[in-house]
Amino acid sequence: MSSQASPVKVYIRIRPTANFAHEIIECLPDQQTLKVRSRKDSKRGKRNNQLSSWVFQLNGVLHNVSQEDTYDRVAHGVVLGAFEGYNGTIMCFGQTGAGKTYTMTGAAETYKQRGIIPRALQEVFLEVEQRADHTFTVHLSFLEIYNETMVDLLSSLKKGKCSNSGVLTVVEETGGGVSVKGLSLHLVHNEEEALNLLFEGEMNRIIGEHALNKHSSRSHCILTIHIESRSRTLSDAKYITSKLNLVDLAGSERLSKTGSEGQVQTEAMYINKSLSFLEQVILALADRRREHVPFRQSKLTHALKDSLGGNCNTVLVANIYGEAAQIEETLSTLRFATRMKCVQTKPSINEHVDPVIIKQWSVDHPYSKIVPFYPKA
Ligand code: ADP
Ligand code: MG
Repeated sequence: MSSQASPVKVYIRIRPTANFAHEIIECLPDQQTLKVRSRKDSKRGKRNNQLSSWVFQLNGVLHNVSQEDTYDRVAHGVVLGAFEGYNGTIMCFGQTGAGKTYTMTGAAETYKQRGIIPRALQEVFLEVEQRADHTFTVHLSFLEIYNETMVDLLSSLKKGKCSNSGVLTVVEETGGGVSVKGLSLHLVHNEEEALNLLFEGEMNRIIGEHALNKHSSRSHCILTIHIESRSRTLSDAKYITSKLNLVDLAGSERLSKTGSEGQVQTEAMYINKSLSFLEQVILALADRRREHVPFRQSKLTHALKDSLGGNCNTVLVANIYGEAAQIEETLSTLRFATRMKCVQTKPSINEHVDPVIIKQWSVDHPYSKIVPFYPKA
């Protein structure tokens, strides 16, 4: 299947606030441009007297945009693409509290505030019902990555298909894709079953956090919807598969190191090494001259290899605060978002041929192999 390069789509979502810093952040009417003016030199963390300004151009700026409209603009197309056989990844990036989990999962209290994951699950099963000429199999998996350890958030459910003893490893497949060996896959028949699994996974994440004294803002979570679709025409040996990765990344804030004299050192440190590896991978991918991309440096970048440099429709939502106090982190998130825009993926349809059906076909049609089909004169 031929494939065309397609840039990663990047959206900025601003967390609503009563103290929006209008004097610093300006959203232009095209809803794609953000202007930031600041006296702070964010690289050194110091104030200087020169006013600097930056313009960021993205695929969309979501400012006071509802969960429903966010889904429609960010996720709808990617979810539908999965039904054509395209892999898709939607990920949220940004500092803790900026709205990543709100965007991905949503607020549990109200139905209206549900996020991309429950809406994607709903849309998947609506499509399954509507496409009566195909049969579908939908599986879910839920992975957490914390300090280079991968955790199966659904391993407590024994019913899942599990390929080994619980040790998870990222493996590269023959077609160039990646998958996580050992991660359990759970068959789901409807939206309700899928939401129950989502809830189960979230609970396991919280239990693990308390038991191991983990910090949730430092872990990455990847919920994957695996879809397989076959035509109801029995002789059709072709079928398509796709994966939708819905990713809630760890908080991206940098912690300032405090020096021996209590002075804040100029050097900023990442709380999460895998995010700095993610930045390195994105820099390498955005720079066409670079031949080596260090995907294998961390579990996160390895697990997301497809989404960043492979066969996938990829969307990034960069979540930011609208307040002046957070402007340094906001600028750093916006720079990351801009770099991500330069990354190109090559989405292509994942089509396979079922060897069992081919074999059956030649049994049913014994001459098909020997007698070629000539069109009648
Ligand atoms: P993160 O996952 O990035 O750490 P959260 O998604 O948990 O941040 O958001 C922090 C708080 O702000 C939560 O209480 C969340 O409900 C609220 N919040 C974030 N974004 C929005 C939004 N767009 N609309 C309403 N509330 C939001
Ligand atoms: Mg969160």
